[in-house]
Parts: sequence; C-alpha cells; structure tokens
Amino acid sequence: MNIAIILAGGVGTRLESSMPKQYIEVKGKPIICYCLDVFEQCDKIDSIQIVADQKWHDLILHWRGSKFRGFSKPGRNRQLSIYHALRDIRHDVKAQDIVIIHDAARPLVTEKLLTTCITACAQHEGAVPALSMKDTIYFGESNKIESLLSREKIYAGQAPEAFIFDKYMEANERLLPDQIESISGSAEPAVLAGMDVALVTGDERNFKITTREDLERFCMMMEE
Ligand code: C5P
Repeated sequence: MNIAIILAGGVGTRLESSMPKQYIEVKGKPIICYCLDVFEQCDKIDSIQIVADQKWHDLILHWRGSKFRGFSKPGRNRQLSIYHALRDIRHDVKAQDIVIIHDAARPLVTEKLLTTCITACAQHEGAVPALSMKDTIYFGESNKIESLLSREKIYAGQAPEAFIFDKYMEANERLLPDQIESISGSAEPAVLAGMDVALVTGDERNFKITTREDLERFCMMMEE
C-alpha cells in the first residue's frame, strides 16, 4: 500500500496573508485541492492522510476525495506534523508500505513525479525529487565567502518524498523528543538513520508557494 501524507499544518507567516497559503483560493479552488486532485487521480496512491488544523477541516472535506483517510494534528514544525501523521496511520500500514509526503503548498505536483518517487523508493528505502543547481553556490558567513562548493554535488530538494514506512518511523522516533524540532527537510531523519535515499529528477514547475511572488507566479500560470 502507498499512503500519502499531505502537510497543510503550517501558518505561512512568510506570505503575510490573513490565512495560511494552502487555503487561499486560486481560480475558485483552495491551493491544497490542486495537489489533492493529483493524488486522488494517481492510481499508485491508495489513501490520503491530511495534517491540518481543525478550523480548516470543513473546507478540506468539501473537496470530498474518495481516498481521504483522516486528519492529523499539526506539529510545532513540519517534521513534527509528519510524525503526528505517521503515528496516526501506523496501525493501518504494513512495515514495507510506502509513505509519500507532500506539501499542500506545492500545487503543481504531477502523477509522473509521484510515480517516479514511488518506483525509486521501492528499489531503495526512500526517494526525494531534487533539482540540480543552476547558479554557483557559495558557503559563507557574515556576507563573506568561506569556501567553494562543487555545484555538481549540490541539489535543491522538493516534495513529494517517499519512504519505506517502518524504517522512516524508526528514523523519526530516534530524534524524539528534542532533535526532531531542528529538522527542516523530511529526508534528514532518513539520512541521519543511514537509510538508502535515492535522488530523482525533480520538476521546475513543482515549486513551493512560499512568498507573495510565488503566489503571483502560480496565479499567472493558472490564468494561462
Ligand atoms: O513552511 P513551509 O513552506 O516550509 O511548509 C511546507 C508545508 O508544510 C506547507 O504545506 C505547510 O502547511 C506544512 N507545514 C505543516 N506543519 C508545520 C509547518 C509546515 O504541515 N508545522
């Protein structure tokens, strides 16, 4: 079984909007519903667990997807939100099932990318879509270059990230209660636990809406 966790528990402070970015309507549809539709249509996905604050449950339930499994409580950071969902689904999944984690704020995920991640995860223990860097990357501090990095070995990670359930659950539990608070990317617990995580080619269009410019870009793309 392949079970999706959709993360919609953030408050989106960077966008300075009155509501979290994933619930803003674009062309009459809340942003979260764009990715929910893709997951619903993808035959590789069996069920969908959504992390969201209770006040947004009605808006999400209005979407009425047949794969909807349930809600989980948001955590203090993204990784704790993931952990809450892992805990909620643990009794319904088998050790070798695949969990696919996606940001509600990435509306342009495709079935193709989902399939690529799931296929690679089945051959490894995890898979993460990533883009290679177009610009030169510097390592620096206090506005000064400290050292040079090899661009060929640097990637920008995206979502959806896929992991083998039992190994990923264990990797997260190892970080409780404190270390998990400083995790910023969902592959970090897997890497720290020594899991075999594949990098697959990401998709430029699958950007995360973080700033007002990102939101404007998404609105323009939907207008076209
Ligand atoms: O804040 P950021 O843009 O990195 O959030 C990425 C995704 O994770 C968003 O869809 C957001 O709603 C979700 N999130 C969450 N719980 C948190 C923080 C972020 O579900 N505590």
